[in-house]
Amino acid sequence: MSPLSADSQLGVARTVKALRARVDAWRSSGQSVGFVPTMGALHDGHLSLVRMAARLSDRTVASIFVNPTQFAPHEDFSSYPRNEAQDLEKLQSSGCHLAYAPPPEQMYPPGFQTSIKVEAVSQGLCGESRPHFFGGVATVVCKLLNQVRPTVAVFGEKDFQQLLVIKRMVRDLDMPVEIVGAPIVREADGLAMSSRNAYLSTDERATAGKLNKIISSMADRLSEGADASDVLNDGRMALESAGVSRVDYLEIRSETDLTPVLYGPIDPAIPARVFIAAIVGKTRLIDNWPVRRA
Ligand code: AMP
Repeated sequence: MSPLSADSQLGVARTVKALRARVDAWRSSGQSVGFVPTMGALHDGHLSLVRMAARLSDRTVASIFVNPTQFAPHEDFSSYPRNEAQDLEKLQSSGCHLAYAPPPEQMYPPGFQTSIKVEAVSQGLCGESRPHFFGGVATVVCKLLNQVRPTVAVFGEKDFQQLLVIKRMVRDLDMPVEIVGAPIVREADGLAMSSRNAYLSTDERATAGKLNKIISSMADRLSEGADASDVLNDGRMALESAGVSRVDYLEIRSETDLTPVLYGPIDPAIPARVFIAAIVGKTRLIDNWPVRRA
């Protein structure tokens, strides 16, 4: 067996020391390293990120860590789906070389007291109803990037605001990594894949499948020059008749700095997206859709 084929087996590291031993060996032999942070319960959306990282670099690392600091006490940290054995099989067959699955005390040892706050871009949208969320995300991603020290890290556009928060943090803190966004992977009916889709009952799943159709038709109308406030009103009514329990937000925002568009036709010079967070049954789902530009 050649050294390369031995190394094509997925390794698993649980400590920073074990992780660094593998990654440093790759880096010192001149190989680039791609990284995909996840919370596990992996689906094809996550795996598309792993495949993209594998195309962009010589070696690929994916982390599996359900980060307690991005959940509020009333949220689903303890019930969040966990299935490490299956996740490792999926990573192995997607071309990942190393899974990093640290226990909580490896990430947050006793005495831990540092946090990262990315200001403006963390506000509004998910930052409004989950005020703790982006602080937890930025801090854990900063730690993971420092631990792995990848050349490139891939994040999904499914969590578009998160992608902008991470890009801002990396720029502001001069972190030596390239952040790449990857397109949203969807189920056959267009529902954005999410580990939380597993919570949906059959009826809720049918309602969830309508969210993407509502925001994509809103984006179509906007690209045809419709007034943003009309489109938002019609979108809210469509969500109500689709049977969502509650709309957390439905907004049109610039995709560069998240400036809201409240009324009037979209400025074709500014790329914009429709953003949604809706509660279906008890499950909070998010999605977004780009407004096509002429
Ligand atoms: P999570 O495990 O939910 O924290 O997600 C880990 C990464 O996978 C994040 O960068 C997400 O944006 C990305 N991701 C989750 N779902 C999808 C999807 N349906 N399509 C593309 N990327 C996704």
